[in-house]
Amino acid sequence: MQVPFLDLKAQYQALKPELDQAIADTLEEAQFVNGKAVTHFEQEFARFVGVKQVVGCANGTDALELLLRALEVGEGHEVLVPAISWISTSEVVISVGAKPVFIDLDPETYTLDPEKIEEKITDRTRAIIPVHLYGHPAAMPQIMAIAERHNLYVIEDCAQAHGAAINGKNIGTWGHAAAFSFFPSKNLGAFGDAGAIATDNEELARKVRILANHGQVQRHQHEYHGRNSRLDTLQAAILRVKLKHLPTWLAQRSALAERYTELLEGLPLKCPQQKPGYAHVYHLYVIHLERRDELQQYLADRQVPTSIHYPTALPFLSCYQYLNHQSQDFPVAYQAQSSILSLPFYPELPAEAQAYVADQIKQFYHA
Ligand SMILES: *Cc1c(COP(=O)(O)O)cnc(C)c1O
Repeated sequence: MQVPFLDLKAQYQALKPELDQAIADTLEEAQFVNGKAVTHFEQEFARFVGVKQVVGCANGTDALELLLRALEVGEGHEVLVPAISWISTSEVVISVGAKPVFIDLDPETYTLDPEKIEEKITDRTRAIIPVHLYGHPAAMPQIMAIAERHNLYVIEDCAQAHGAAINGKNIGTWGHAAAFSFFPSKNLGAFGDAGAIATDNEELARKVRILANHGQVQRHQHEYHGRNSRLDTLQAAILRVKLKHLPTWLAQRSALAERYTELLEGLPLKCPQQKPGYAHVYHLYVIHLERRDELQQYLADRQVPTSIHYPTALPFLSCYQYLNHQSQDFPVAYQAQSSILSLPFYPELPAEAQAYVADQIKQFYHA
């Protein structure tokens, strides 16, 4: 059986009439930039997250960078980021001229370990960017308490966690602001690049909106040095359709994750953990095991593609070699990069395909 790692066509097929209509309407209206759908989506997504303001932008990386710029984090400053994430989280820190300072992870959730934050705070530290990695919320109550003590901004990287929550309070509402990505494979994905920032701070939202639109307060009045990073009307129209289905997809993700965990029970591998009170939204289903490379090859030979998120933890990437990080500085991240494996996972994953994947993993161990 050939199992896809991810099948974006399934979602399009299921919603084809609605999506095609939304696309056709956008083409008819021809307001390709700053069209009505952008405002509507921003309002609807703000309601979904539970914040006062959402500002659409070109992608999730820009959402993070625009927030750092709007908060005037830049040269001479340090920003705390987790040792495992997609590169964007540390990339944006460099983009604004600041220094990324990596923090090792909590071995249960792979999100940043709050116990290891304070030892990295200096008088140059301005912000923390917790990442809700794989869909599991970072330890926001502890992180916010630390940030308050040290007067730091907290920007939540929500790119993998639309709809996740801690004790019923949504991620994206814990920090001072949040960045979302709608890259096609995310839990809520556009048909191309798209992103947004979310915050309760009206002034911050206003500034991000201006920065993302060439620093213009009004047409031809450029108050700041800005840039062009707007959410396309076409992507907003698509996202409006898909947002209505997101709760269903999240429920499917959760059920599939539970099933994987049941099917894999008793094997010498660790399934994703969910801390009590934390609502994981399973952007990815990531197992942790000793013979990772062997199992990955074994599955590939049986038409089961897997992936590694991510094969090299951020501190060890060649672009950060000049920072001279050693494996013993980040023992959890270092160990994780050789033991994590992402299994085929998406809301429409057929039950037989999932059972097939689990069977192959069982055979690997019993072979
Ligand atoms: C996808 C992702 C981003 C960046 O989003 P883009 O829209 O691809 O720019 C940032 N952070 C994390 C953790 C991500 O997974």
